[in-house]
Amino acid sequence: MSDFPASAARSTWNASDWHDALVVEAYAETPTARTIQMRPPASTALPPLPGLVAGQHIDVRLTAPDGYTAVRSYSLASAAPGGLLEITVEELDDGEVSPYLVRGLDVGDRLEIRGPIGGWFVWREEEPAPVHLIAGGSGIVPLMAMIRAHEAAAHPAPFRLLYSVRSPEMVYYRAELEELTRVSPRFDLDWVYTRRAPSGWPHAPGRLDVTRLAASVQPLGNDALTFVCGATPFVEFVADALVRAGRDPARIRTERYGGADGGTDGGAEGAA
Ligand SMILES: Cc1cc2nc3c(=O)[nH]c(=O)nc-3n(C[C@H](O)[C@H](O)[C@H](O)COP(=O)(O)OP(=O)(O)OC[C@H]3O[C@@H](n4cnc5c(N)ncnc54)[C@H](O)[C@@H]3O)c2cc1C
Repeated sequence: MSDFPASAARSTWNASDWHDALVVEAYAETPTARTIQMRPPASTALPPLPGLVAGQHIDVRLTAPDGYTAVRSYSLASAAPGGLLEITVEELDDGEVSPYLVRGLDVGDRLEIRGPIGGWFVWREEEPAPVHLIAGGSGIVPLMAMIRAHEAAAHPAPFRLLYSVRSPEMVYYRAELEELTRVSPRFDLDWVYTRRAPSGWPHAPGRLDVTRLAASVQPLGNDALTFVCGATPFVEFVADALVRAGRDPARIRTERYGGADGGTDGGAEGAA
């Protein structure tokens, strides 16, 4: 690691350039997803990436021995100044990059990254409005950054998360989320299990529908700022339903992870 200088890049970091990042931790988040923590060269600088705001993403570039490169975007789950950069990657069976990040990468490896990227799908401490977060599967990642930033700031605005997952073991960051619902008066959590619910769960498993969405979203009122993230059909269904229900489209921000099958959350009612 001696060839991984801590300070050399500090003053020259540019979000559009590629930089090495060292993988310092990697662990299973669910049976199919892995959380990877990395340290950019300027690890002692605060914040680790200049301008890091909760909700932004980085690009990761892999290069094969023959020079072939693949670039994919991953949201940052961490937004803590001085903290490690953290991403959580869901493995797609037929994917090119995610299987390597979930099963091939080792601690001590390097990834090429650039960023942070994004100035729209972000939550800033200056925002006074209540916030509704709606996640499908791996779409929880940037919303988790917002939740962590909100908690770190002890921000008074209420935050409410609606999290759609296939089954209990597919939940990312479960312990942290459950602890937050217990200790934070500002954070509230509602689940949708699309394939299998925990025993005793009051709702039968099923895709998010208009009724469940309205029941969960309503408590924060119409001036809430809403962030929706997940596979494309999930995001389209939720955004569409909110607008039909009278929400101001300007108060709804969306981020799509691509994919046409509804993704890891099992999709949403109305999805193809
Ligand atoms: C802003 C942003 C943030 C993101 N954040 C995250 C995150 O936090 N966590 C996360 O897990 N993912 C995230 N993603 C998704 C991520 O960038 C990748 O798309 C994902 O990891 C899949 O990459 P892959 O290389 O494994 O799959 P790919 O090889 O890109 O394949 C993806 C899908 O497309 C299909 N496909 C591939 N090539 C073709 C083709 N030629 N024709 C038809 N279909 C094809 C495959 O069958 C597969 O189902 C994010 C995406 C964006 C845009």
